[in-house]
Amino acid sequence: MGVKEHMISPYLKTLGRHDELLFPDEESYKLLEKFIRKYDGRMNINYKSPKYEIESKTLANIQRCSGGRMGLVIIPNGKVTICERLINSEECIIGDVKKQSLIDIWNSDKLYNLIYPKRSKFINTDCYDCDNYEKCIFDKGLCYARSKIAYGTIYNKDPLCPRETKFMRFV
Ligand code: SF4
Repeated sequence: MGVKEHMISPYLKTLGRHDELLFPDEESYKLLEKFIRKYDGRMNINYKSPKYEIESKTLANIQRCSGGRMGLVIIPNGKVTICERLINSEECIIGDVKKQSLIDIWNSDKLYNLIYPKRSKFINTDCYDCDNYEKCIFDKGLCYARSKIAYGTIYNKDPLCPRETKFMRFV
């Protein structure tokens, strides 16, 4: 059918309807990796094991966020947001397809300001004076869903950041 790449995403903790009982254990992830390896060289499978979240924290290991960079999410009422995990977060609603075209939303200042936030939004957090602010937040994209789950606001560090000493599970 012309499919060039398969992407596999792990089951995620959301602000909505996830169930703690459905998270795979490490053994299940190992089985998945074994299964994927069978297709090496025959199929392009984009998959990154989430193990590193448990084992180590480095800036390079913080997953990128493609929300608002590679796509948008239209929720059933027509509102548009950047992430299916943040459909209830008013600050991430950047438009409404009942009132605007999708291309206008895609090119809007509202989207730009959301994915390239000013430092002042992060006052009193580790991000505010972080030397990696641009590399991390602008180039990589901060995972607002994880920040919101961990700290109750989208404008705080990614809990996978090395500056967060606690380990929290999201996958
Ligand atoms: S403190 Fe914030 S900006 Fe700095 S690396 Fe961590 S998440 Fe990124």
